[in-house]
Amino acid sequence: MFSQKVVDNLRNSSAIRAMFEEGARLKREFGEANVFDFSLGNPDPEPPERTLAALRELVEKSPRGLHGYMNNAGYADVREKIAAQLSRMGGTPLTEDNVVMTCGAGGALNVILKALLNPGEEVIIFSPFFVEYKFYTENHGGVPVIVPSRESGFLPDLDALEARINAKTKAVILNTPNNPTGVAYPRELLAGMESVLQKKGGQYNTVIYLISDEPYRDIVYDGVRVPCVLEIFQNALIGYSFSKSLSLPGERIGYVAASGRIEDCRTLCDALVFANRTLGFVNAPSLFQRLIAESLDDKVDINIYQERRDLLYGHLTGLGFSCVKPGGAFYLFPKSPLPDTAAFKQMALKHKIILVPGNGFGCPEYFRLAYCVSTETIRNSLPAFTALAKEAGL
Ligand code: PLP
Repeated sequence: MFSQKVVDNLRNSSAIRAMFEEGARLKREFGEANVFDFSLGNPDPEPPERTLAALRELVEKSPRGLHGYMNNAGYADVREKIAAQLSRMGGTPLTEDNVVMTCGAGGALNVILKALLNPGEEVIIFSPFFVEYKFYTENHGGVPVIVPSRESGFLPDLDALEARINAKTKAVILNTPNNPTGVAYPRELLAGMESVLQKKGGQYNTVIYLISDEPYRDIVYDGVRVPCVLEIFQNALIGYSFSKSLSLPGERIGYVAASGRIEDCRTLCDALVFANRTLGFVNAPSLFQRLIAESLDDKVDINIYQERRDLLYGHLTGLGFSCVKPGGAFYLFPKSPLPDTAAFKQMALKHKIILVPGNGFGCPEYFRLAYCVSTETIRNSLPAFTALAKEAGL
């Protein structure tokens, strides 16, 4: 009756939402302050004050046409500013024609995949991965191919990558800093990845595109620098989002940028604009395009996240949890102390801790904690983690 595929996916894909619902139920029963909900990557800090001030000014002035349609790619002057910023970062010149404004990174990835994929072509995804990649790929007739990262440190395994590339491989999705691990990949690894893509592309006489999903590019700690993929990969497409860097996830604003070094980039960019239109996004929200043009140099206070990371990571590792120290984003991905992560999740619920088991991310032995919650929630949760660790035998 309904789409069989969607109904099947529904059954397998609702782990994060299910935990969120469970959290809502517990909060009703025990009160907000007594439940420690680490399920969703929904930023707790408000947008930067300058961004909010620029928003107020925009709305107040309400220049004529502010709420109208524009080119499906977005406002040319906004794209030009983004192109200039990326040109500075990547050392390769981009113009507004290389940039398409989108409804967040989710919109960006769907636009890219629609523009690139022919039926049956393969998209490589490193596990652990952002849950939606598989569905986004399948949305456009692609086949997701999961390549496990190295367990120690969760860095992509280039030998495994090379082994899985074949004549049908169309793209590789990269996400650094990573959801769910928080790991930021070093430049040398990315350079090595480009060598693999060039070598295998040459072998099969194809182009393998690098899709860089970058919602966490600006959320990094301890002086970590996220290299610009435009500098490293010839066939790079960036999907950026202001959801996390400006705490605007509900406003749906981001962009795609395509490297000028891609062969026939003009046709690809036209295809991106066509995809933005015909997927029904039509264009990214006009008010927030205008706001972004004023806020490109702003971001939320990263120190807040770093403090939360230090607090939670320090406490958990002190208790004996095994966990890679995140260099960015706002997730911890510790190993479950019980072989059965579902049982551990249930045990955590007894302590009013909501976590997400790793199976949805392709790593069933781990669990994710999203620490984009208030510092107070984290502080209050520490005794609950201590009790949980004890019960789990750590
Ligand atoms: N990619 C990753 C890795 C994410 O974690 C998220 C959201 O959490 C997205 C994409 C989607 O972000 P957006 O709100 O910009 O669509």
